[in-house]
Amino acid sequence: MNELKDKMYSELGISKEVLDFCTEIEEKLQDRFKEFDEKAEYNQLKVIKAMQEARVSDVHFSASSGYGYNDLGRDTLEEVYAKVFNTEAALVRPQITCGTHALALALASNLRPGDELLSVSGKPYDTLEEVIGIRPSVGSLKEFGVTYSQVDLLPDGSFDKEGIKKAINSKTKLIAIQRSKGYLPRRTLSPYEIGDVIKFIKEINPELIVMVDNCYGEFVEYDEPSDFGADMTVGSLIKNPGGGLAPIGGYIVGTKECIEQASYRLTAPGLGREVGATLGVTQSFFQGLFLAPTVVSGALKGAVFAANIYEKLGFKVVPDGSEPRYDIIQAIEFGRPEGVIEFCKGIQAAAPVDSFVTPEPWAMPGYDSDVIMAAGAFIQGSSIELSADGPIKPPYAVYFQGGLTWYHAKLGIINSLQKLVDAGIVKL
Ligand SMILES: *Cc1c(COP(=O)(O)O)cnc(C)c1O
Repeated sequence: MNELKDKMYSELGISKEVLDFCTEIEEKLQDRFKEFDEKAEYNQLKVIKAMQEARVSDVHFSASSGYGYNDLGRDTLEEVYAKVFNTEAALVRPQITCGTHALALALASNLRPGDELLSVSGKPYDTLEEVIGIRPSVGSLKEFGVTYSQVDLLPDGSFDKEGIKKAINSKTKLIAIQRSKGYLPRRTLSPYEIGDVIKFIKEINPELIVMVDNCYGEFVEYDEPSDFGADMTVGSLIKNPGGGLAPIGGYIVGTKECIEQASYRLTAPGLGREVGATLGVTQSFFQGLFLAPTVVSGALKGAVFAANIYEKLGFKVVPDGSEPRYDIIQAIEFGRPEGVIEFCKGIQAAAPVDSFVTPEPWAMPGYDSDVIMAAGAFIQGSSIELSADGPIKPPYAVYFQGGLTWYHAKLGIINSLQKLVDAGIVKL
């Protein structure tokens, strides 16, 4: 009991009943938290080692402008990413506007008309449906004559190896794997089972390019998919690896050949990686990467805390309160729109920024139903910061992630429960 702390929670609108309920759950999670701290320690060392080997220096933090020729900071940052992810090369740029863009870039640059893209982890993330052309869209891969096929995960959430073997044909060029669940209530794939399926795919045809959508997965485990032979591993810098400091950006790490293809698509044939001014963001990219392992561990603590609270209250939570974690996302199924809405209101009201606004469900570009999003973030849409979102469609699940500090994640989750209690949706 810490009276000062409890009084502060009370001043923030948390009732004693809600606080006591949550505190009791937190006390039982100390072993889990220790496991996250150990992974963070390892990943922190991994990042520092990469920065030392690349001889990062403050000269690398200066801004380039115009064409951005000879931007030493940018090139060193890419060297650091390649070391951290254990790959030959990396493309890490503010010109990559978001995760969807990074994935679209990885795909469009490595596929040619007549090639087939095969997803082996079922339906890809919503925004990729338009990139691929699963939903008709201007400029999709489909418009450029790239066909698409898909193998769903098995009912237990594992890869359907037999199905994958059957689906690979002479046109198949690139295999896509999505690590995180996205907006589907399936389990997240571990880097280890992704590694196992990459080996299986390469045995069928070593020429196939394997791309992993690593969004939300970075630094959750000791290893990344790139440690197990993924030709491209892709993600967003306003998620895990940006550490909350990167104001924009995406990354692709992988083989020299794949990264080169991506660079010529990002800028122009003949230009590639040689251009692309960094306009002063490089320091935040380095510093964000440096902080990312501990930021991710705080987010993981928040996710497990939320899982245990809502599991105890009888809701379906994915992952459940005790299973291993391979991304920072926590899904909670409320079974009714009001649950999703009240949860999001609680997250919003606990934010350091925009705590006074009320989130509402809305149509969003790239999504096929209304979506509610709660984010009181320093960086617009940053989902390594405490945020929650949910499409307003069955099973009315909210997807919750982030928190730059564990204490903020904790307040947000406690406040979400307070809102649900106040609205009469939950009884303690
Ligand atoms: C967030 C996410 C994306 C897209 O990233 P944006 O930065 O929102 O465009 C793609 N795939 C997965 C699994 C994601 O979680």
